This record gives sequence, structure tokens and C-alpha cells, in this order.
Amino acid sequence: MEKKFIACHNCAREKEIAGNLAPCQALAGWLTVHQWESGAPRHLQFCSLRCMKAWVDSQVTEVPEVFTRSFDDER
Ligand SMILES: [Zn+2]
Repeated sequence: MEKKFIACHNCAREKEIAGNLAPCQALAGWLTVHQWESGAPRHLQFCSLRCMKAWVDSQVTEVPEVFTRSFDDER
């Protein structure tokens, strides 16, 4: 039987998807993010909320307020 694997986008953990299982059964507990882009939307798999959050945090380049304030002091 053909075996399919998906990998967590954050930690690269692999999950085997047996051919006879529906994706909702095989991927119970996993999360999928659809990042819509013109042409080819990306489908990102995450093994846990923790991994998804780590990815979200890496996408949101938020500068801490304390850091920006230190620049004001120098003016
Ligand atoms: Zn993961």
C-alpha cells in the first residue's frame, strides 16, 4: 500500500498517513494553515498549536515597544 507522509512545517516531525484513513482521522490533533497567495496557495501542516504559534511568531516581526522607546531617548 502506498504510504504518504506529511511533515510539520515547524519541527519537521513526520506523520504517516495510511492510505485507508481519511485525512481527518490520520491528522487528528494536527493543524493546517492555508496561506492564500495568488496562483498557488500554501498549505502548511503543524503537529501542535505550539508549533503553529512558533511559526506565527516568526512571521510577525513585531518590534518590542521597549526597543523602539530606547531610540526615542537618543534623540
Ligand atoms: Zn511540530
